[in-house]
Amino acid sequence: MIRQKSFENEMPTLYLVPTPIGNLHEMTPRAIEVLRSVDVIACEDTRTSGRLLKHFDIKNRLIAYQMHNEESSSLGILNLLEQGNDVALISDAGYPLINDPGQTVVSLVSEKGFNVVPLSGCNAMLNGLVASGLVAQPFIFVGFLPQKEGEALKTMRMYQDYPMTMVFYEAPHRITRFMSQALEVFGNRKCCISRELTKLHEEFIRGTIEEVLEVCDTLKGEMVVVIEGKSFDKEKDVDYGTILMMVNELMEEGLSKKDAIKDVANKTGVPKNRVKDMVFKD
Ligand code: SAM
Repeated sequence: MIRQKSFENEMPTLYLVPTPIGNLHEMTPRAIEVLRSVDVIACEDTRTSGRLLKHFDIKNRLIAYQMHNEESSSLGILNLLEQGNDVALISDAGYPLINDPGQTVVSLVSEKGFNVVPLSGCNAMLNGLVASGLVAQPFIFVGFLPQKEGEALKTMRMYQDYPMTMVFYEAPHRITRFMSQALEVFGNRKCCISRELTKLHEEFIRGTIEEVLEVCDTLKGEMVVVIEGKSFDKEKDVDYGTILMMVNELMEEGLSKKDAIKDVANKTGVPKNRVKDMVFKD
């Protein structure tokens, strides 16, 4: 066990400093003060962070800390701390570690007894969650799914029975595929896409997955996707027999089996694959 009283010891400190995800006015006075006071600032991309630091007239030494060489970058930071330097870690935007580099160095230096002090501030996940209109607690942050289609679907399926609100990051060129997979895995739940948070073109698109899917092709910019968790109450009310009866009724009305399954999934909130399993089991 290691207890850290952040401001009651002489050990050097690694500060985790969030930086704006869009609007530069969200840089806090404390973040500026810490970045000015440390000996070294470690960042993902020296050119990107160089521009930010210039804007705030921060002239400290900048070094690179990158995801693809976290091991060696972490040892470099450990070395700086061992020599008595305070170091600040920043990422291109938002919080370090949140879908950004930093995990390795935080684990390493905290195990070695150095202070790790986080500052409060910018982060796309929390903005997306609190403005989504969906239940904010409990929630799970998933971040990016794997890029390959099959892997993404497999990962999404891990969360299909989770009752908590889920928060994902996704790139604009994959958002339609993402939402189509979400419809398949979760059924037609409520969701919200938050786009360009804190920027001029900030937008929130709230609705059911099907509704939101209709506009996905047109969406640009950075985005956070929030999807409601599985509602057990809903499922409790809709048992196996009811599902079969609803599908049969729709087929009698002339719908194909495929369309009937889709319709029942939408009406009940039971994922399409589950309805399909029930129908084909029969
Ligand atoms: N560290 C960042 C944080 O704390 O939010 C996340 C970095 S991750 C590499 C970048 C992703 O975060 C984007 O692709 C997008 O999904 C999300 N993101 C970052 N800024 C955003 C913004 N202004 N609006 C919406 N999503 C944003």
